[in-house]
Amino acid sequence: MTDAQDTHTANDGFATLAIHAGQEFDPTTGAIIPPIYQSSTFVQDGIGGLRGGYEYGRSANPTRSSLETLLAALEGGDTGLAFASGLAAEDALLRSALRPGDHVVMGNDVYGGTHRLINRIHGEWGIKHTAVDLTDLDAVRDALAADGTKLLWIETPSNPLMKISDIAALAELGHAVGAVVVVDNTFASPALQRPLSLGADVVVHSTTKYLGGHSDVIGGALVLRDGELAQKVRFQQFAAGAIAAPMEAWLTVRGIKTLDVRLQRHSENAQAIAEYLAEHPAIERVYYPGLPDHPAHELAGRQMSRFGGMLSVAVRAGADAAHRFAESTRVFQLAESLGGVESLIGYPSDMTHASVRGTELEVPANIVRLSVGIEDVHDLIADVGQALEG
Ligand SMILES: *Cc1c(COP(=O)(O)O)cnc(C)c1O
Repeated sequence: MTDAQDTHTANDGFATLAIHAGQEFDPTTGAIIPPIYQSSTFVQDGIGGLRGGYEYGRSANPTRSSLETLLAALEGGDTGLAFASGLAAEDALLRSALRPGDHVVMGNDVYGGTHRLINRIHGEWGIKHTAVDLTDLDAVRDALAADGTKLLWIETPSNPLMKISDIAALAELGHAVGAVVVVDNTFASPALQRPLSLGADVVVHSTTKYLGGHSDVIGGALVLRDGELAQKVRFQQFAAGAIAAPMEAWLTVRGIKTLDVRLQRHSENAQAIAEYLAEHPAIERVYYPGLPDHPAHELAGRQMSRFGGMLSVAVRAGADAAHRFAESTRVFQLAESLGGVESLIGYPSDMTHASVRGTELEVPANIVRLSVGIEDVHDLIADVGQALEG
């Protein structure tokens, strides 16, 4: 027994769940916010007499349980598992679902760290992979036909070119060959997109990004339906031990309370900036699913409730001008990561995507990525405007 008492998962809406699921007030004091259980072990009432199922903090901790219950509710799954980072969550999933010799099909624009983990860590243990354009369903079908395909890894919207792939159609193709269908939902968050309801088997998060939302915590999560895979991943979490710590779990829960309103503002601000940049002479192209000329604008409108806070641009004058743009903003700060309340700007080919240079995931050198925060939109527009003049 590790799940917190939860009376809120029945018919409540998303914003209500985000504030209440797994968040019962403390029964001994009435504290409305459940405490941070900063404790490594739990006293037993006689040998094996556990209070609430807790014995040692690696197997379960009430603060982590409350986050796990919350994540499962938001994604519409049964089992939520919180890890020390997004990559720790991914690693636990891969080691649970795959054996040496198995083959993974993944998008050719997945997060660079995901590619590095599968290619360089799991590759050493006999895992093969093929990277394909997930918007080309025939190419995906061909790649899935390879012997030993056990897992399809989807990331949509993708990073940094904001490609949108069709989760429902891909899940069907993956299931036709018996593969586990995984969606990295970090860029959208469950406020915008719920992959399990579209047929996926597992949702992966870097909770570092929109779920935490305040750039103050590193964390990761998996959400699954009950079943054999969920049991295996739960065992990996316990036996390999890459758990989320209580303070990190608590900060993530605190961030999630405002997830719905944050994503609303992130999306509104990003749409306005995308429209501004689309008309700007220094910009060759804007990659944002909320623009009508995005190749998957219609699919994104069906699959997502809003278009999100991430966008990229191709700078017309090339790599040097893109560099200058990324180094000339004032409100947008130059940093890795995304999804916080503050706006960030990045130059993927030397920053987030440096690890995939020379691979099939390489990013063009004139691309600049924006994580649009929730500041005043006129300040953000003025900022990118002045930076492009420089
Ligand atoms: C950041 C990120 C990850 C990795 O998560 P960490 O918390 O940094 O380990 C995985 N996928 C996506 C899409 C990300 O943006």
